[in-house]
Amino acid sequence: MRPIDDARIRASFLNASQRERAQLTLPDLDLIDWEKREFLGWRDAKFDNLGYVVLELDGELAGLILRQFSRAPNARAQCSWCNDIELPNEVVLFNTKRTGDAGRKGDTVGTLVCANFECNKNARKQPREAYLGFDVEAARQRRIDTMRENVERFARGIRDGR
Ligand SMILES: [Zn+2]
Repeated sequence: MRPIDDARIRASFLNASQRERAQLTLPDLDLIDWEKREFLGWRDAKFDNLGYVVLELDGELAGLILRQFSRAPNARAQCSWCNDIELPNEVVLFNTKRTGDAGRKGDTVGTLVCANFECNKNARKQPREAYLGFDVEAARQRRIDTMRENVERFARGIRDGR
């Protein structure tokens, strides 16, 4: 993804109040390798049940606040974004508030995602050579594309109230 700065990130949130925007803690953006990610995802350093995802969606930045539903990681759950069956990390259930009236009434969407949004890294892992002549690089690119589509579909659903 293309590099983004603090102000643009804070302005991008679809389902956050003014207070939530002001309060959120950003990661150190200088340490981010933008070329190796399809979205920016991080956990809040102060509020440990909160996570944030920011991505480019149909030409505009879209940010979402996600709230971890329970403390316990989901044993052997699969991340709905990177779809990795051999995950090196925990997967947790996040609730994401809908936008508009539905969100104000407390309506949320639940999704199982890597606990610290490791999906960018997981999708870039070298796939196994399934057969002789298997195009590992093409398979890796497909996995990255699929992961991006999954995150986009989720964010679009929240944005469009679906
Ligand atoms: Zn994942």
